[in-house]
Amino acid sequence: MSKLDDVVKEIADEMRHMPDRGEVASYIPELARVDPKSFGIAVVDAEGNVAVAGDADTPFSIQSISKVFTLTLALGKVGDRLWDRVGREPSGSPFNSVVQLEYEKGIPRNPFINAGAIAVTDLILSNHLPREALGEILRFMQFLADDPTITIDQQVAASEHRTGFRNAALANYMKSFGMLDNPVDFTLGVYFHHCAIAMSCRQLAMAGRFLAQFGSNPSTGYAVIQPERARRINALMLTCGHYDGSGEFAYRVGLPGKSGVGGGILAIAPGKASIVVWSPGLDKTGNSRLGRIALERLTSRMGWSIFGA
Ligand code: GLU
Repeated sequence: MSKLDDVVKEIADEMRHMPDRGEVASYIPELARVDPKSFGIAVVDAEGNVAVAGDADTPFSIQSISKVFTLTLALGKVGDRLWDRVGREPSGSPFNSVVQLEYEKGIPRNPFINAGAIAVTDLILSNHLPREALGEILRFMQFLADDPTITIDQQVAASEHRTGFRNAALANYMKSFGMLDNPVDFTLGVYFHHCAIAMSCRQLAMAGRFLAQFGSNPSTGYAVIQPERARRINALMLTCGHYDGSGEFAYRVGLPGKSGVGGGILAIAPGKASIVVWSPGLDKTGNSRLGRIALERLTSRMGWSIFGA
């Protein structure tokens, strides 16, 4: 057993006994059905070793973690033109805030708040049918994770489609400023479905390897993206990956990370590891409560914070 295996097991044991596990998201009704006691962790290091513990092989709804991968795809398609539609500043607002969008004339603060991710999805969708765009996103995830079995949870997608009134408001608002190119329904349909991709901690940690390996996929040795782009996506994850909890996450964990309301967090230790934790209970900023605590313990025990010991 390596030190990493020991630390990962130790943390999963500690999390099993934590009394306050946060609140499972219920605004997407299907997400509320998840067992709040679940906890999984998976770490893939630079040598390709995989350390897992707890429910690391149980698929969960990746939700906003998909935004890291749609951003990567969209940058590949349209390059820096993407930044005409979306900013790069932390929002300091909740993930689904409408008010900021009005002040800023339909240009969302960053690609990880919902409005920003909807704008990014719209860029991927252009010149395609929704099912083609979605197929491309899903195949990208399967390729990165080296696992063709990854699918979309159609019940979660349908549940969000029925209840996603705020996201519909955000999309309509952007459309009114001429900031979406495609019909609102199409863009939202693709957005809801990529948020509903179901993956385990192990699969998602595999998919994140290119961000820990300066843009290249260790399975093939080929570049997924250029190193500078990987560096910049990591920078956005650090500053914007946890909505209005991004400062607290950087302070406590010290790694680029992206959370989802399904309770997952993807964190990247550049040059060292791709890490995923999953615990469905959220804190008041919509980020996994135990996920953040587990990552804080992992980075301090492994000495992995990008800011030093
Ligand atoms: N699909 C979710 C929504 O748009 C994603 C939010 C999240 O994971 O933070 O509300």
